[in-house]
Amino acid sequence: MVYTCILMVKTAIKILDHAYFRDKIVPFSEANVSIMTHAFMYGSAVFEGIRAYYNKDDNALYLLHAKEHLSRILNTAKIMRFQTHLSVQEMTDICIEVLKKNAPKEDAYLRPSWFKDVIRIGPSLVCEDDRDSFIVSAIALGDYIDTQKGLNVRTSSWRRVSDTAIPARAKVNGSYVNTGLAKAEAILSGYDDAIFLNEDGHVAEGSAMNLFMVRDGKLITSMGNENILEGITRSFVTRIAREDLGLEVDYRSMDRTELYVADEVFFCGTGAQIAPITAIDDYKIGTGKPGVISKKIQDLYTEICRGKVEKYKEYLIKIAY
Ligand code: PMP
Repeated sequence: MVYTCILMVKTAIKILDHAYFRDKIVPFSEANVSIMTHAFMYGSAVFEGIRAYYNKDDNALYLLHAKEHLSRILNTAKIMRFQTHLSVQEMTDICIEVLKKNAPKEDAYLRPSWFKDVIRIGPSLVCEDDRDSFIVSAIALGDYIDTQKGLNVRTSSWRRVSDTAIPARAKVNGSYVNTGLAKAEAILSGYDDAIFLNEDGHVAEGSAMNLFMVRDGKLITSMGNENILEGITRSFVTRIAREDLGLEVDYRSMDRTELYVADEVFFCGTGAQIAPITAIDDYKIGTGKPGVISKKIQDLYTEICRGKVEKYKEYLIKIAY
């Protein structure tokens, strides 16, 4: 069965039939929890989003950066004091099993998650009766945000969560209300998406993606200790920009007004992929069209994701039909 839900942002999602839930693959409709589950009441879950790209030519799915995502989920789980009983390899095998069972012939997106699977009152993350469970759901997913036209974004009036409150480098479900507020504000005020500043007033990242600007041919992105999620795509873009496009990449603080005078700005992330930004706070960025460097990175990234670049095949797991 296909469940379709139309959100206010007009994103249709197609949930795939089978999910992994409490140690086995089950029909999606059976993967349910109590309304009093700790994770539901207190946001005590951690997650990842992993893409699998379908390549029509070789009739195969390519699962991208599974090791990196599933290592990060264990780091997030560690910060959250979760008890995890699966290794990166075991979680990878489960993700592959979920994909094989659903066998989508289109691009897919996995949501692995550890959640506090207990019913109790009180938000503490440690208790004698703790049970932290692993789940994986899957949907079909094309673009999460537009990657072609150039996005019109705004600086959010909300600041990015600070490591002194909720760890920004951890992908914790509860902290996504911060993202939700910024995204809703952007949409309701007529923009496509939002850019977060951190508490110091420096550019942190997008609502759920990292950000690069291009100035004088050089790529610049914020540092890992500036309350950003240390993105896997961000590291990968850094590598391909340096190694394959011969570009310099700097990690440093960025001011909001630097974005206004940048030659190019783009978002990057697993969901977002490479998404050029052409206006920020009603300032035209560069020529007002997706930038040349952004497009070069996007083209190369797209080829890599579909298993077409030999050098980067080690970051993909091929699931052939
Ligand atoms: N920042 C936030 C807040 C995110 O949710 C994401 C998506 N995971 C990113 C950045 C991009 O990270 P990645 O490239 O690892 O997907």
